[in-house]
Amino acid sequence: MGDEEKTGRDFIREIIDEHDRTGRFQGRVHTRFPPEPNGYLHIGHAKSICLNFGIASEYRGKCNLRFDDTNPTKEEEEYVNSIIEDVRWLGFDWEDRLFFSSDYFGMMHDRAVDLIKKGEAYVDDLDAATISEYRGTLTTPGRESPYRNRTVEENLDLFARMRAGEFNDGDKVLRAKIDMGHPNMNMRDPVMYRILHARHHNTGDEWCIYPMYDWAHGLEDSIEGITHSICTLEFENHRPLYDWFLDELGVYHPQQIEFARLNLTFTVMSKRKLLELVKGGYVNGWDDPRMPTISGMRRRGYPPSAIRNFCGRIGVAKINSTIALELLEHSVREEMNRSCPRYMGVLDPLKVVIENLPDDHEDWMDVINNPEDPSAGTRKVPFAKELYIEREDFMEDPPKKFFRLAPGREVRFRNAYLVTCTDVMKEGGEVKELICRVDPDSRGGDAPDGRKVRSTIHWVSAKHALDAEIRLYDKLFTVEDPMGEEGEFTEYLNPGSLVVKKGCRVEPAVGGLNTGDRFQFERLGYFTIDPDTKEGDLIVNRTITLKDTWAKVQQQNV
Ligand code: ATP
Ligand code: MG
Repeated sequence: MGDEEKTGRDFIREIIDEHDRTGRFQGRVHTRFPPEPNGYLHIGHAKSICLNFGIASEYRGKCNLRFDDTNPTKEEEEYVNSIIEDVRWLGFDWEDRLFFSSDYFGMMHDRAVDLIKKGEAYVDDLDAATISEYRGTLTTPGRESPYRNRTVEENLDLFARMRAGEFNDGDKVLRAKIDMGHPNMNMRDPVMYRILHARHHNTGDEWCIYPMYDWAHGLEDSIEGITHSICTLEFENHRPLYDWFLDELGVYHPQQIEFARLNLTFTVMSKRKLLELVKGGYVNGWDDPRMPTISGMRRRGYPPSAIRNFCGRIGVAKINSTIALELLEHSVREEMNRSCPRYMGVLDPLKVVIENLPDDHEDWMDVINNPEDPSAGTRKVPFAKELYIEREDFMEDPPKKFFRLAPGREVRFRNAYLVTCTDVMKEGGEVKELICRVDPDSRGGDAPDGRKVRSTIHWVSAKHALDAEIRLYDKLFTVEDPMGEEGEFTEYLNPGSLVVKKGCRVEPAVGGLNTGDRFQFERLGYFTIDPDTKEGDLIVNRTITLKDTWAKVQQQNV
């Protein structure tokens, strides 16, 4: 992955180094990324993906992509496909190791029977509310279920009948028999299986009992020979249970390691909340460019390398914290500045007529594509009698600090000529058109006598320009922590997060770009071609403005 920053050492890599020294896994490193297909991946998942796949590649190990599809009611094929696309787009490869938890349902069932036979699991008839009540609290011990001491034979029979579909949803569960007085609530006879007469996207109607996460996850890791099962901090209290199941079964035992999840300012990151935004029509789907989803960021124009760099930069820690959105944007700018060719486009066109050029004048200027990258070459940009400039680059009665175009003033038209405004045409008080003159000896943008102008502006040739719709984006929320505010988080959506500009004019070369191509419009920011673009209907997204606000945010935080 080229010249990306080297990932530093962190506590996870130290644990792996220690395992290498002690030979715990015979020097093997095998991780997995285990998404639940109940939504699209977001930037938080990107952190986990970069960590798991990154560690595997650094240690010449492997990383599996495993769908944690144990809940048939919330999971959909659409999510599976989007996740596959997103992980691949981020630049990672699981080779032939694409797995589904549901592939292991048979094995999980058999291991559960093993635990029943050992007297370590039982069928409970209590309903969910009572089980929860009997669990006790952090300060008071739980109470044992009256069904806890069923015989092994009875449990085997009941579990088989649960599996066979003899009971209704919620009638019975299978629980591990551990300790109702355990100080760790997760160890108070956790539920292993519940009855759910629901169709599964992968196994269809084969099962009507489904395993719970804690029971399933360690087994999946064990079956796949995972060495380091990396998860987020909220599972720290589940580790004793992860270990208990594997130890009681006497099967291969990976090491679970927890790290702090990524939180970003000005956004929400839970799939449940993102689903709410989609379902409520607050955004235009999961891949809306304002969403913190990977598909949204792709559509917005974020390069995958920028996301990987960002994930490397934030590192991994044991303490939850919130990262400034500006750091992610900084990574995007840095990458796009390096790699994007530059074009000219006008968001809000104001017509300019060059009075000292003939009507059919056409002069194709040689323009450097990317000053940061000489290998990007040059292109031809047409200059003609009628041009468009940005309306805000002209003021009829400019204040002192305004150096751009004004009556009688000369500015540089980027990559072209020095141009002076000689007259202003108005209609109903509004400026309709500017009459200007070029200095014919300034071709390329510099005067032969070396006189200086204070400003350089962008432009396009009116007859050559293409029409475009340009979509401008801003933060999705107006507050840093929408979940931390009073009321509904949707009350804090930014009404200005999407501004659609129609009738923009862009130089003809932009018409040759493809969906997803990234580029800079001089002075306006970085952009990409939106997939809504059709023949003759150019739709462009602004990925981000040019102005980097990361340094300012850093200063505020010291
Ligand atoms: P969410 O809370 O957004 O619904 P989740 O944890 O339920 O996320 P999963 O599909 O279970 O989503 O997550 C797959 C993997 O990604 C897990 O290992 C999880 O720990 C990790 N992950 C999820 N969110 C983040 C985050 N914000 N930062 C880092 N890792 C995350
Ligand atoms: Mg989850």
